[in-house]
Amino acid sequence: MPKPAVFLDRDGVLNQEVGYIFNVEDLQLIPGIAQAVRRMNDFGLFCCLVSNQSGPARGYYSTRHVDALHNRLCQLLAQEAGAHLDALYYCPYLSQPEGGIDPDYTLWNTWRKPNTGMLVAAAWDHDLDLHHSFMVGDKATDIDMAHNTGCVGILVKWSLATASWVVDTSITPPPTTLPPIFPLRLIGSCKICIDDTQQSIQYSSTRMR
Ligand SMILES: [Mg+2]
Repeated sequence: MPKPAVFLDRDGVLNQEVGYIFNVEDLQLIPGIAQAVRRMNDFGLFCCLVSNQSGPARGYYSTRHVDALHNRLCQLLAQEAGAHLDALYYCPYLSQPEGGIDPDYTLWNTWRKPNTGMLVAAAWDHDLDLHHSFMVGDKATDIDMAHNTGCVGILVKWSLATASWVVDTSITPPPTTLPPIFPLRLIGSCKICIDDTQQSIQYSSTRMR
């Protein structure tokens, strides 16, 4: 039976947004996110990274380097909280008008957000129910991809001032429109919680700071 998933953007959601990461050691997790992923692991939610990574197309570095970054990401999640990602998908492609220069990766591709290729591939590979899944991202393209795919987009921003997630409730749909999902208590310190009796996801009634 198809299962729901939580799709997670990478930069600005799992690791700190610092632009293109040329040194593997410069990839640093957002504080608290490893524990959040661990909680989702413990609830049996399928956690899947989906990320646009145009560095190879721009000629900045190889896909091997992107893989090394993801190895470090997974190592940090495991070291900090015993957390893991169930699958990782990324798009190394970029069209020439958008800045692609490496001939191996310069092309228009359905995997690039806000196109739906990564989510469709993940659903096919892992028997996922996209209409009962969530996409957590920090950019409009993340939310557009979610909407293009039929899953719920949750736009979050990391607040350095308060060391907490802020959910953009102007874009994220209100609780009444959210589909049922298995327990999802917290993402970072964002107040997204599950009603265990209703098996539905709910947001804090007050705007998060
Ligand atoms: Mg991002």
